[in-house]
Amino acid sequence: MKVSLLGVEIDALGMEETVERVAGLINSGRPHRILTINPEFLYQAQFEERIMKLAQKADLITPDGIGIVWACRLAGFPVKERITGTDLMLRLVERASPEGWRVYLLGGAPGVAEEAAKKLQLQYPGLNLAGTHHGYFKDNEEELLVKKIKELKPHLLFVALGAPKQELWIDQHIQEIGTATAIGVGGSFDVVSG
Ligand code: UDP
Repeated sequence: MKVSLLGVEIDALGMEETVERVAGLINSGRPHRILTINPEFLYQAQFEERIMKLAQKADLITPDGIGIVWACRLAGFPVKERITGTDLMLRLVERASPEGWRVYLLGGAPGVAEEAAKKLQLQYPGLNLAGTHHGYFKDNEEELLVKKIKELKPHLLFVALGAPKQELWIDQHIQEIGTATAIGVGGSFDVVSG
């Protein structure tokens, strides 16, 4: 079920159902975009066409903010809970080992994605880490970076560049990368690594 809020179709799913839906997208082996939408993003989408387009192109949109959850409820849809990028990332990483999904972490200050990867591997032994890269690459480094990610064929690509930069980056590169389901996760690597 979808809830239409200010022109954006939000998936009214709880965490369990969201994880199931994302698993289905990942296992299809085709590129997909997941958006965790917060009030700032929804607000920006009202004024910027390119931001609204990101929401329209997303394969799944989760309510990332209690304000969004309440607005959905006021519109008559009993959205169960807030689903943040960090929470969703952790649930998917937990599922990645048994499913055999390769995971790539892109973003954060130099060293942060590596540290987050180490912590995740300690917590979820057997996690198949395809690779990591910091989020402060230059424009002229981007083509090679995308090529490298593509070669590693990740199933799950977490992009932590802050919103909406990460969603714009995903939109620009997900088709070329090919196999991955990508999710913008904001400051999640900082949270996990710290
Ligand atoms: N970041 C990055 N490259 C950039 C800008 C930001 O890797 O060019 C990272 C930054 O280091 C931080 C994250 O993106 O880890 C942004 O976190 P924030 O909590 O500000 O994101 P939001 O939750 O606002 O989307």
